[in-house]
Amino acid sequence: MQIAVASGKGGTGKTIISTSLALCAPGPVQYLDCDVEEPNGHIFLKPDLTSRERCTVIVPQILEEKCTYCGKCRDICRFNAITLFAKTIMTFPEMCHSCLGCFQVCSEGAIVRSEREIGVLEAGMAGNISFVHGRMRVGEAMGVPLLKAVKKKADQEALVIIDAPPGTSCPFVEAISDADYVILVTEPTPFGLHDLKLAVEVLVNFSKSCGVIINRADLGDARVEQWCQQQKIPVLLKIPFDRKVAEGYARGQTLVKIRPDLRPFLQALIQKVSA
Ligand code: SF4
Ligand code: SF4
Repeated sequence: MQIAVASGKGGTGKTIISTSLALCAPGPVQYLDCDVEEPNGHIFLKPDLTSRERCTVIVPQILEEKCTYCGKCRDICRFNAITLFAKTIMTFPEMCHSCLGCFQVCSEGAIVRSEREIGVLEAGMAGNISFVHGRMRVGEAMGVPLLKAVKKKADQEALVIIDAPPGTSCPFVEAISDADYVILVTEPTPFGLHDLKLAVEVLVNFSKSCGVIINRADLGDARVEQWCQQQKIPVLLKIPFDRKVAEGYARGQTLVKIRPDLRPFLQALIQKVSA
């Protein structure tokens, strides 16, 4: 069972909720921090990281001595990662999406595989929680390959909690693609509602079951809840604003440590969505 915790926008409390869901889960549990651009689950779970591996992608390297400057590789590249000026050919590895198209069309054998490091995968244990996160190399633009590498570590025998990246673009889609259930964390504001609608639209396209947690539920208005009712999307939990939570969050404390009274609600929520 994989449960993704996502939000249409950043700053809704997704990580403080997903880490505490992992802490409240019964039986074997794994926490995958798929927010590879800004992983911060480790700040709360404080895992003992015992393994570290480089994550690389394949990029083309051109052997100019074999190249006839035909331009086929440049023409097939949808990402403008190859440029040809008369008898000068250049690649831009940061723009390459590793589709391997250029390798296929070069009949001169002038393109060979090279590797580019995009980040690292780190794993370990946080108490009884198996923990994995990816950390992107500074300056790296594409998070999806690293996110896929984190997801490949999913333990088939455990309840997997995926901390998804915020927003509704490619990394979000990749993070939720194998999830059995998606919990959307939002806040009761016009921005929260706007981004929730975008996220739900994506989930509908992927036929994903989802429910909503409204964080800081007493600070805004009722429009998020009303919209969820209209759309028949369950509101799984409403967490009122609590200054203690904000202060504890800033110190790297987990939600269930700051508010132990929420533990039974989070346990019930996991039972409900995994039933
Ligand atoms: S397809 Fe091969 S031969 Fe043609 S320009 Fe590219 S590298 Fe050179
Ligand atoms: S592998 Fe694909 S994306 Fe990368 S340079 Fe070749 S054609 Fe472009």
